[in-house]
Amino acid sequence: MNPAATVSAAPGPGRPPTATPGDVLRRLRARHHGADPVTHVERVPARPGEPAPWPGWAPAELRAALTRRGVVAPWRHQAQAAELAYAGKHVVVATGTASGKSLAYQLPALATLLADPRATVLYLAPTKALAADQLRAVAGLELDGVRPATYDGDTPRAEREWIRRHSRFVLTNPDMLHHGILPGHAHWSGFLRRLAYVVIDECHTYRGVFGSHVAHVLRRLRRQCARYGRTPVFVLASATSGDPATAAGRLTGLPVAAVTEDTSPRGGVTFALWEPPLLPSDVSSAAADLAPVRRSALRETADLLADTVAEGVRTLAFVRSRRGAEVVAANARRSLDEAVPGLGDRVAAYRAGYLREERRELERALLHGDLLGLASTNALELGVDLVGLDAVLICGWPGTRASLWQQAGRAGRSGDEALAVLVARDDPLDTYLVHHPEALFGRPVEATVLDPANPYVLGPQLACAAAEAPLTPADLDLFGDGAKEAVDSLVEAGALRQRPTGWYWRHRERPEVDLRGEGGAPVCVVEASTGRLLGTVDGGSSHFLIHPGAVYLHQGVSYVVDSLDLADGCALVHAEEPDWSTHARDVTSLSVVSVRSYVDAGPVGMFLGEVDVTSQVVSYQRRRIATGEVIDTRPLDLPARELRTVAVWFTVSPESLALAGVAAADVPGALHAAEHAAIGLLPLMATCDRWDIGGLSTAVHPDTEAPTVFVYDGHPGGAGFAERAYGTAAAWLRATRDAIAECGCEAGCPSCVQSPKCGNGNNPLSKPDAVRVLDVVLANLPAVDQPTTGGSAAGETATGDATVDEPAAGGEAVDAGAELPSGGRGPALPRQDERIAAPTDL
Ligand SMILES: [Zn+2]
Ligand SMILES: [Zn+2]
Repeated sequence: MNPAATVSAAPGPGRPPTATPGDVLRRLRARHHGADPVTHVERVPARPGEPAPWPGWAPAELRAALTRRGVVAPWRHQAQAAELAYAGKHVVVATGTASGKSLAYQLPALATLLADPRATVLYLAPTKALAADQLRAVAGLELDGVRPATYDGDTPRAEREWIRRHSRFVLTNPDMLHHGILPGHAHWSGFLRRLAYVVIDECHTYRGVFGSHVAHVLRRLRRQCARYGRTPVFVLASATSGDPATAAGRLTGLPVAAVTEDTSPRGGVTFALWEPPLLPSDVSSAAADLAPVRRSALRETADLLADTVAEGVRTLAFVRSRRGAEVVAANARRSLDEAVPGLGDRVAAYRAGYLREERRELERALLHGDLLGLASTNALELGVDLVGLDAVLICGWPGTRASLWQQAGRAGRSGDEALAVLVARDDPLDTYLVHHPEALFGRPVEATVLDPANPYVLGPQLACAAAEAPLTPADLDLFGDGAKEAVDSLVEAGALRQRPTGWYWRHRERPEVDLRGEGGAPVCVVEASTGRLLGTVDGGSSHFLIHPGAVYLHQGVSYVVDSLDLADGCALVHAEEPDWSTHARDVTSLSVVSVRSYVDAGPVGMFLGEVDVTSQVVSYQRRRIATGEVIDTRPLDLPARELRTVAVWFTVSPESLALAGVAAADVPGALHAAEHAAIGLLPLMATCDRWDIGGLSTAVHPDTEAPTVFVYDGHPGGAGFAERAYGTAAAWLRATRDAIAECGCEAGCPSCVQSPKCGNGNNPLSKPDAVRVLDVVLANLPAVDQPTTGGSAAGETATGDATVDEPAAGGEAVDAGAELPSGGRGPALPRQDERIAAPTDL
């Protein structure tokens, strides 16, 4: 561990001195009667650290300050990244949790501030909490004349001018850069003309549409710096991710060198994959359609947490929703108190709604062993020092291998063994992964996907840039592919005026562009009794998240929506904590607009192109939080909505399906089941989650005139996910096929072909026929994962009014399954058990 970044946990009181992770795991398994819940155990070996000498240019004052904070010497990867940055190279350091990425940028940035009393540094973090942590770290070095300060939505007006004039290390976030600093660049001219470094921390969180927006905010920053005569060096820090140099290059628009070898020391970890047992069939069949067939991951995690705490093992449990974290902590406390009254007090929940002081107190209590168990939401909310635990429980696949390692990285002290357990949820991807450890271990983590060329991002961002300073032809190169077309359409729309000197923004007001949401103006969420504004939900998500009757979580507090007024953009809510969650349902139709690329594989066709999706939220289900049991389904009266986006789709000829033994009547259920599983498995290929993606399947689509499965990006203009699916089609559909075929259920379950967000109530579905469909596709599709680009195929363009999906009225069978993504959820969030609003932590 980097001595500066971590506080090692003290040995836990009451912990058996000889308990190895293997012993603990053996005892956990032994409590299960019947089938062994552990599907795989992986030993991740310990690694010694590789220290490096301080760079020669690091001033003695800085070295002394760092040494006082406990940094004896940098690790080799820190020194390597620092050297590159100091030499003026843009660099990304992409290494594991607690590998000391901060030092990699602090060294060159602070050395430069000390050497040049005028230089400045801009630091960007995705959350205010992280910026506050970094401020503490930099301020704690007590370096003369640096004057670090955070500048965000919470900064009092009175302090802002002082910061602009005097701070030389400003910590902020992309939203503030976009809304505040760049539009007010004239006030920042002194800071920008001296800007030496731009630090982008946790840069892997800038993915999808949000990432594409941030990419252009950074181009706007580079443009303003250039206008003031500066070309700052970019230093990026990322969690371990696939091909970080390319992702960082796409994000900044610059050539970026990558440092990826983690040379910090690490304790060994025993990593177990855990599949909760199947419930007896009478219990599962008595419940409604979506009740889990397996014991819920929340209950299983709560039991494991109670068991490890009872052993005196300091344990952190990661749960994807705040509510889930509360449930896990409460259940663990209850079981412990039943065993030994008072023991339950050693377990707590940890969530974003707590004040920073409260969170730090909980972290401290866990590190010192006063507290033995903590159930928490995602890793970004946790302090960077919370590492060195005895055990980490991960309740449900956290969405990416990168997040998995980030969470597991909290376990294990140098020279000491630790335990990590991934508890599978009842879901196709989780099930696939616990039965395919090769997909988790010894494989590179996912690449971060973003698409700065998305016209729905590029156009608004160019408008922002033009409002900051007129655009010139040279700027078009900076903004990349599609910039000229986007500028032309802004001129056509009357937003820009072309003059000999460039393109000018025509309005007095600045363009309104939200980096995190898209698809309509934000809707305000107001507490009816007090008139207090709790937050906003972007228009694209409002039908799903804040329809009447929806349970809405804000800062860990639960509210129920009384009314949603779309004309006024306002939802009224009251505080209430029911023991159910709500899940919106919709009906969808889709038409093909154009084909970008395709593979003609005989009876099978694979396509990438633009589509129009029309959807309407028509009802919602209420489900018990603890069990997932469906209480009831209630109708909603909301208007239909349109989305133009990018889709990947495949067609299969009816003849080949008949030959494969799929009866004509079973084709809709076969395609629908394949679609669900394919959506569930796509996150294996791209850094998305299934809520970012929608799908639709039909036995005959008017635009393709064949049985077709569509999977589309749930964001206007696309976010790169469908494109990634197309690029890895064979591997993606192979994993989909295997996940279905290998599921132990008989007729389909949430672990294979059922979907938690199906607009058709998971009907019709045919599990065995889905495997036959995918076998036909895989037998014909070229195995290479790079289909040849065929360009736009003439004649594939369809009219926009075709629909395929009849709403399931009058109890009639429908011929299409459809499911819709939730729209613009905050991309930095992990997948949630419940729908929650985008973060308001700006
Ligand atoms: Zn199944
Ligand atoms: Zn469906």
